[in-house]
Amino acid sequence: MALAFDEYGRPFIILKEQDQKTRLRGIDAQKANISAGKAVARILRTSLGPKGMDKILQSPDGDVTITNDGATILEQMDVDNQIAKLMVELSRSQDYEIGDGTTGVVVMAGALLEQAERLLERGIHPIRIAEGYEMASRIAVEHLEHISQKFDFGASNIEPLVQTCMTTLSSKIVNRCKHHLAEISVKAVLSVADLERKDVNLDMIKVEGKVGGKLEDTELIYGITVDKDMSHPQMPKQIEDAKIAILTCPFEPPKPKTKHKVDIDTVEKFQTLRLQEQKYFDDMVQKCKDVGATLVICQWGFDDEANHLLMHRNLPAVRWVGGVELELIAIATGLWKDCTKVPGVDPRKVGKGNKMMIEETKRSIHDALCVARNLIRNNSIVYGGGSAEISCSIAVEAAADKYPVVEQYAVRAFADALDSVPMALAENSGLQPIETLSAVKSQQIKENNPHYGIDCNDVGTNDMREQDVFETLIGKQQQILLATQVVKMILKIDDVISPSDY
Ligand code: ADP
Repeated sequence: MALAFDEYGRPFIILKEQDQKTRLRGIDAQKANISAGKAVARILRTSLGPKGMDKILQSPDGDVTITNDGATILEQMDVDNQIAKLMVELSRSQDYEIGDGTTGVVVMAGALLEQAERLLERGIHPIRIAEGYEMASRIAVEHLEHISQKFDFGASNIEPLVQTCMTTLSSKIVNRCKHHLAEISVKAVLSVADLERKDVNLDMIKVEGKVGGKLEDTELIYGITVDKDMSHPQMPKQIEDAKIAILTCPFEPPKPKTKHKVDIDTVEKFQTLRLQEQKYFDDMVQKCKDVGATLVICQWGFDDEANHLLMHRNLPAVRWVGGVELELIAIATGLWKDCTKVPGVDPRKVGKGNKMMIEETKRSIHDALCVARNLIRNNSIVYGGGSAEISCSIAVEAAADKYPVVEQYAVRAFADALDSVPMALAENSGLQPIETLSAVKSQQIKENNPHYGIDCNDVGTNDMREQDVFETLIGKQQQILLATQVVKMILKIDDVISPSDY
């Protein structure tokens, strides 16, 4: 702190910046960052896999969420630490690009950080670790390509796709109903997919929840659901072959605003105004009728008088329909110029239990939709249950000798980090992690078969191919790439300056 005077001689105090900040440098900064990252990963680790635990999260306003979806857990956790926020971003990126594998990516990053901490303690420079990790991740990603398989499906043979979505759903709370939900997801994705261009626009699929009912009541509706009543109870509830007028303007005569002044001093004037308003609205109705509309869908509301007139003129209407729904209706009815080729829109309705379950089901369906979409984009798969990670770990370990001595340590550490995913799966299923992992690993090496993984559900075989547990190749590759990138980023930070009251 220093005392200074301005040009008029008035005193003021200068606070030195350093006085307000705490600063961590060098190895201390790296260690502090690593433990923050590891702390986040530790929370998610117990949620991984079909036997993973769920978390209850309560928001400040009392809303309760039960989930085991990595991205959601992190999203709702109020993390303060900047590095922890990076881990949250990591999970979010995986969610954004792939939609699944959000827990796995954080567990992998946590394991890489843990290994990096050991290497730092042995005096290896963080940059060498980062470089070693980069090399190892390239080997792993290439190896995944090598062990991947093409996955055949067609519009008439959807069962393989359904099986893959089931793998995703099996680790969720909704797994009781996984076949039903997986089938719905696949059908929905296929009906909006462009198989030639290998693309799917998930915006065309809407997942709606309704309190009450059972998980099994979930159904797929080909079309649009708009949860609204007709504007008048006496309007027909069913309209066949409707010609729909979509109005994004208010369906009512313009109302005088506060800045306008209307002088009405006689009954006649009032009558004229009323008639004028009526005529205005009558004209609007007529215009809709002239173009042959048999149903009006309006983004805005209209008053009782207008409603009555609509009823009277036999023009059924729905009011207060959201913009997104209007857009979907426009697309589905071919109004949307650029999208006339779109086959139809498939909103889905989820009838189920309470609000918490509905939200979790929506998230789970989102994951299943993403898996189906990813397979349509690229139909390569690798087997799950940690088998792909174990196989990569063996490949990375074997390649380590080729690298310069110091980086070799990091490459080997990367191989060990890959093992932490199957270890977490084993641990969460109540198995001995180290024993189980080494048994499966030696089985893979002995039989030269990358399909052996952790038998989480005690099916009786380790062969994930037999168990039909697989994941998309792009999803797994993305997990490894993203986890490596974020860990490299954390390792390269050697100075943390933060306000001292932090
Ligand atoms: P994420 O959010 O990362 O997808 P999950 O909790 O869904 O996390 O767990 C995914 C992991 O569980 C993957 O490694 C997957 O291979 C594995 N898995 C899913 N189902 C099974 C199963 N039936 N047996 C063994 N492993 C499984």
